[in-house]
Amino acid sequence: MSSTTMMETLSIKTENKFRTLVTKRAYKQGEVICAMPSEDVREKPNRFTVQIGRDKHTHVGKLAALNHSCDPNVILDTENMVMVAARDIEKGEELFFFYPSTEWQMDAPFICLCGSANCINVVAGARFLPLSTLERHYLNPHIREMMIELLNNTQNNLKKIKS
Ligand SMILES: [Zn+2]
Repeated sequence: MSSTTMMETLSIKTENKFRTLVTKRAYKQGEVICAMPSEDVREKPNRFTVQIGRDKHTHVGKLAALNHSCDPNVILDTENMVMVAARDIEKGEELFFFYPSTEWQMDAPFICLCGSANCINVVAGARFLPLSTLERHYLNPHIREMMIELLNNTQNNLKKIKS
């Protein structure tokens, strides 16, 4: 099945200007749902882009309608540029991913109302979340890399203060 065909299994619904991405078929956990489109790669994020590398933010076509959830049902794998089912998904479900799994520092932070027991409340990017929270989620390599760098910098600064 080509990625274009697979894209046809997704539909965008709009209600009061609020967009959602809904699947027209069921998926098994781990199944690739579609390729991630990459259009117009830029250095700075905006409210529609997905971060795919340290200084790489891309528009993702139809996938821009994906909303955030702290209990997501899909993963955006920026290494292989695919969207994958994080658990079994039923036909007609809205698809969500965990924004900090791709975003280090978001252009337009917001308050999350997902209602999950593990809700992070403020969605602003991975750099603002404690490790204990991030550890529970799938994280893309660029996020892991920047997280380690931040920790190392913090440790170095602490050493400077102590010496
Ligand atoms: Zn939430």
